[in-house]
Amino acid sequence: MNDLQIDDIKTDENAAMVLLVDDQAMIGEAVRRGLSNEENIDFHFCSDPHQAIAHAVRIKPTVILQDLVMPGLDGLSLVREYRNHPATKDIPIIVLSTKEDPLIKSAAFSAGANDYLVKLPDNIELVARIRYHSRSYMTLLQRDAAYRALRVSQQQLLDTNLVLQRLMNSDGLTGLSNRRHFDEYLELEWRRSLRDQSQLSLLMIDVDYFKSYNDTFGHVEGDEALRKVATAIRDASARPSDLPARYGGEEFALVLPNTSKGGARLVAEKLRQTVAALKIPHNAPSEGASLTISIGLATMVPEAGSDCRLLISAADRGLYLAKNNGRNQVGIE
Ligand code: GH3
Ligand code: MG
Ligand code: MG
Repeated sequence: MNDLQIDDIKTDENAAMVLLVDDQAMIGEAVRRGLSNEENIDFHFCSDPHQAIAHAVRIKPTVILQDLVMPGLDGLSLVREYRNHPATKDIPIIVLSTKEDPLIKSAAFSAGANDYLVKLPDNIELVARIRYHSRSYMTLLQRDAAYRALRVSQQQLLDTNLVLQRLMNSDGLTGLSNRRHFDEYLELEWRRSLRDQSQLSLLMIDVDYFKSYNDTFGHVEGDEALRKVATAIRDASARPSDLPARYGGEEFALVLPNTSKGGARLVAEKLRQTVAALKIPHNAPSEGASLTISIGLATMVPEAGSDCRLLISAADRGLYLAKNNGRNQVGIE
């Protein structure tokens, strides 16, 4: 049933496909005759109980009429087999018994039968029960297919949301987190550090003499250089909780939760050296120079009622010091 689509199922919910399993050809003939004038009821007869499951898998009946007493195979075992087979486990089964016996009836229901009729039932009753069980089976199939379709579209929605979220959070040029996400993340980590009374470090990173880089090499080359610096910053963020971001223009930031001043300084110094080692040719501050960055560093354990902008301002002052002291260095207030 798994490969049935919702559209295949809704074709005709009044249509029934009956499979009668009975060793007696005479019973088969009688039921066939009884159903022959019924619109929308297809009839299949299987006289060999050993072929019953294979037959059912092939024709996909909406109701199975199952004889209980057959040579070589007990009808109740067959009912259990239908219930254990993935293709037949939900198909309604009406057992056909030779007598009205509470014990047999009880055994039939506990084996998994849905209904019990004494052979040969009155045709009106047989047709009514076939239609009733068939319709409820079709409804079940439709419901299952609808649930499956719903689950698929829910998963697609989740996937799409994830992609959207990623797009919404990232900077188009560098792929790092954008300013919006940086603000959110810093706020979150600030509150976490306040709760845990842990150290939160922040690096503010600014490319040196970048205006003149653009003026000399053009904005396309400038963008390329920014991407290289961004990659170095991404590589410098070792822990999953570190967040590299583009703060704006040629300024970047790196949030380092649970990081001491000493630890942050090591990260900053290594990053500064990595960018210098890229040896991106520049002509400022002098001919034959390479592109460098300046980094401002601040570390705080937040106090109650304080604001994470304190940390940004402190890192900014560190950056100002680094610029004033000659650039290509880490500044700490
Ligand atoms: P300093 O060493 O003091 O940082 O000097 P600077 O020239 O780097 O600083 P300034 O703030 O004067 O110039 C920054 C320049 O960065 C200005 C602008 O042309 C360039 N810039 C900002 N955003 C982008 C961008 O997305 N792409 C490119 N190519 N350039 C950008
Ligand atoms: Mg700047
Ligand atoms: Mg700059």
